[in-house]
Amino acid sequence: MVVEIVSVGTELLMGSILNTNAQHIARRLAHMGLDSYYQTVVGDNPERLRAALDVAFSRSDCVVTTGGLGPTKDDLTKEMLISYFGCTPTEDAAVLHRLEARAARRGTVLTESMRKQAMVPAGATVLQNDHGTAPGVIIEKDGRACIMLPGPPKEMVPMFDTACEIFLRGKSDKVFVSMNIKLYTMEEKGIAVGESPVADRLGSLVDGENPSVATYAKADGVLVRVTAAAPTRAEADVLLAPTLAAAKSAIGEEYIRYVEED
Ligand code: ATP
Ligand code: MG
Repeated sequence: MVVEIVSVGTELLMGSILNTNAQHIARRLAHMGLDSYYQTVVGDNPERLRAALDVAFSRSDCVVTTGGLGPTKDDLTKEMLISYFGCTPTEDAAVLHRLEARAARRGTVLTESMRKQAMVPAGATVLQNDHGTAPGVIIEKDGRACIMLPGPPKEMVPMFDTACEIFLRGKSDKVFVSMNIKLYTMEEKGIAVGESPVADRLGSLVDGENPSVATYAKADGVLVRVTAAAPTRAEADVLLAPTLAAAKSAIGEEYIRYVEED
């Protein structure tokens, strides 16, 4: 399945905040073996969001949006997607109950704008927000899926890592396993641990596709990542082991600071 991230928020376009949500999701998608070829950032504007969705669905089966699920006027992602998919809006009793309980705890009444967060597309999967008020929503229709997640990373990340991963893993036919081989820095071990001498030592191992071996020059020492993909975790482990061993021996144990799973 091909998944595309659409990050919604004028703040992102203005450069006021960094798109850490897209980074988190993209990283997890790669781990799950789901293909993702494009990312879009679009402001809080219904026409432009619709246009971004048209483009995203023309090349992907599943779109993950973040942002614009909250109570304020510029939070329009959910309303937009309800209309985009032609769904019927309905009030989710569990979400409404949580919002009412929260208002009662604060000694306030539930405002209309807060209440709007309980509005969900009929038939959709509602993802409880344990760290905020706006629930996440998954719409599946006509072979397409849209996962809507809240903007604040402290709400988005736990929601993605639990419910969304379970949903997405069910769509992936591959499991990816990556092991990181972290090397000492040049200062610690002399000139021979820069990226290109390391790549030279790895030789034809870096040409492999599955497992793949990639080198990354980092400020705190070169990183070599060995990745295998297979239908199950056990098969990926079996595939990975000989290449990992060959990479470690090509690099030389004395240059390796540690080896750990990515
Ligand atoms: P809220 O209920 O807080 O309004 P929301 O789902 O409507 O949540 P937004 O209003 O779009 O989300 O964004 C709220 C805040 O979340 C932003 O001010 C920003 O701090 C953070 N945020 C939004 N999108 C991203 C992103 N892509 N990466 C990192 N942080 C983000
Ligand atoms: Mg908001």
